[in-house]
Amino acid sequence: MCPDCHSVDMQWTEVVGTGTVYSYALLHHPQHPAFSYPVPAVLVDLDEGVRVLSNLVDIDPEQIRIGLPVEVTFEPTSHDLAVPVFRPRTGRP
Ligand SMILES: [Zn+2]
Repeated sequence: MCPDCHSVDMQWTEVVGTGTVYSYALLHHPQHPAFSYPVPAVLVDLDEGVRVLSNLVDIDPEQIRIGLPVEVTFEPTSHDLAVPVFRPRTGRP
């Protein structure tokens, strides 16, 4: 839903997968054995202008800051699927 006008007129768009941290929270509860805590939940502003909710990996939680450059990576899940998460931008392909 558009945060400005609440329109649900949406479309798919391709993105490169790079952006910056808009905001974040370190989740401590409720705890589940599938996760290690705290879980960094981030709002990422993609370079194309779309804001997405995801998780941040490969970083000490104390190093997270607003404006941090990040890039997408994929965490495997069950059944040979994967979910997009973000890590600090390295410049690696
Ligand atoms: Zn709108």
